[in-house]
Amino acid sequence: MLTGVKFAFLGGDARMIEVARCVSELDASTVMVGFEKADVSFPDSVKVAFSEEVLKDADVIVFPVAGIDDEGRVPAQFAEQPIMMTEDHFAVINKKTQLFTGIARPRFGALAKRHGLALVRLMELDEVAILNSIPTAEGAIALAMEHTEITLHGSACTACTVLGLGRCGVTLARVLAGMGAAVTVCARKPSDLARIREMGLTAIPLEHLGDAIASSDVVFNTIPAMILTSDILARAARFCVIIDLASAPGGTDFRFAEKRGIKAMLAPSLPGIVAPKTAGRIIAQTMVRMVQEASSSTGG
Ligand code: NAP
Repeated sequence: MLTGVKFAFLGGDARMIEVARCVSELDASTVMVGFEKADVSFPDSVKVAFSEEVLKDADVIVFPVAGIDDEGRVPAQFAEQPIMMTEDHFAVINKKTQLFTGIARPRFGALAKRHGLALVRLMELDEVAILNSIPTAEGAIALAMEHTEITLHGSACTACTVLGLGRCGVTLARVLAGMGAAVTVCARKPSDLARIREMGLTAIPLEHLGDAIASSDVVFNTIPAMILTSDILARAARFCVIIDLASAPGGTDFRFAEKRGIKAMLAPSLPGIVAPKTAGRIIAQTMVRMVQEASSSTGG
């Protein structure tokens, strides 16, 4: 249980409403900042305006999955007013308060560090990122279906290419293969290339990406680096659709793709769009465990 633990939720999307519902069911109290336009109706939860008091009072502060931007802006889908975290706001937070975010840009991490605050980056934890890759893969496949006129199933000679074999890449490749797609995966590590072959898929070393692209109908990028450069895109067919999942700015030269008439899209935050409840529960499960562990180690 989380009896007596005070959570402050600062912005975010529908995932955070589910996280707040989960902790509330475990008897925590929650204050919700930036949810004016959301339907938040569960016990012991109040919508409040952003203030230093909210930050001072909280035992746990939950930031959006995307963290805060370099100007301190907190993304808040349901807010009526912008929320800005300044250096002064970080200064009032109690050093024992636990801070959670999905990812943290360097400035966010540096601010937390400068003020002696422990910031957990949930999406860096395998236990979260692996489960989160499931709604990500489903969302990416839904997008591909929406933007193509062909089946992803390989029977119509459709070729799907996944770039990267990390947490998202593995899940995506596996789900696509399960649907009967002809899947090629490009990776740079020999061990990943061996794993791709073991999975019964076509393995192409990243340095031969151009060859893979030339025969692809749909490309899913999970590599957070500029990988689909103009040189590579020049080899892609004009009907090729690119779904770029990598964190902003993605790994695609979008300007060149547009110029060449290739449909390429950056697709951030898919779990929050296609499966906010599932994605919220994935976050809540790990966060609750970590809060309970911290509380038992301090005798709270
Ligand atoms: P991950 O487990 O770290 O996998 C990243 C993959 O990219 C690995 O195969 C890695 O290969 C490869 N890679 C990284 N840098 C590379 C480089 N410079 N050159 C070649 N390969 C490189 O990450 P993940 O959890 O799968 O997430 C992948 C991306 O998707 C991240 O940017 C993440 O923020 C984003 N994401 C987006 C959504 C969404 O909704 N759009 C959801 C979840 C995650 P090595 O092992 O060889 O380094």
